[in-house]
Amino acid sequence: MGEHQGAEALAGRTPTVLSAHYDDGVLSCGGLLAAGAEAGTPGTVVTVFSGAPEPPLSAEARKFHRACGLADADAIARREAEDDRAMDVVGATPVRLGVPDALYRKDAAGNPRYPRDTEISRAALESEAELIGELAAVMAAEPAVRDAELLLAPLAIGNHIDHRITRAAARLLDRDPDTVWWYEDAPYVIFPRALLEPFDESRTAPRIFRLTGGQWDRKLRGIGCYASQAPILLGGNTELPKYLTMYAESLAGGEPAERYWKLPAAQL
Ligand SMILES: [Zn+2]
Repeated sequence: MGEHQGAEALAGRTPTVLSAHYDDGVLSCGGLLAAGAEAGTPGTVVTVFSGAPEPPLSAEARKFHRACGLADADAIARREAEDDRAMDVVGATPVRLGVPDALYRKDAAGNPRYPRDTEISRAALESEAELIGELAAVMAAEPAVRDAELLLAPLAIGNHIDHRITRAAARLLDRDPDTVWWYEDAPYVIFPRALLEPFDESRTAPRIFRLTGGQWDRKLRGIGCYASQAPILLGGNTELPKYLTMYAESLAGGEPAERYWKLPAAQL
């Protein structure tokens, strides 16, 4: 089922990854980015939710910072520095759209949009329709997105509202569907049932993107740059690289790979 290809699948195209948060692009597409850099077509990672919080921070945002070992005052600066290092490792250029993370957003009355983090995966996408429309316009005007020869966008596995917003905005872009590959959000995708729902209908054209050992190693080293997220990803499980590798090797008969999906036009 599907195609098995490596860097040749890029066909000389420069990739742009739409990353919801700082680490998502490398976690999910770091191997493809490394392959692009090696092939002379280095990519760009456009991080959507990269904006600084406006004080006062919600209790949930402060809790998140504490869990990450980040100070409230310079959390974004620290994460940006981590991202800069990760971009160097995978050979990509960062672009940041500066929209505040769900944990930082406030409603019209100035109250936290998501006072409890459990609401972030359960929130109805319709409640973010305004932001989705604004974001689609920003993406359409951003040269790294507008001119991207190949766009990598999230399937939003794991259901985080920021990933779903990114997916919904990407769907509003007026693009040839053949130039958009939908990526599996890691690490959420490694859970056994992650792909069963609600993506069954989209399982029409998976592309197995084979990686060399060197490309996989660059991806893992890139992920390692996001030190503040280590206590959060997979609940702080220090074996994250091992589990990511097991999943990646399960896709292509023992060699590491990333899997990308093509969504039918009916779902766009
Ligand atoms: Zn994320």
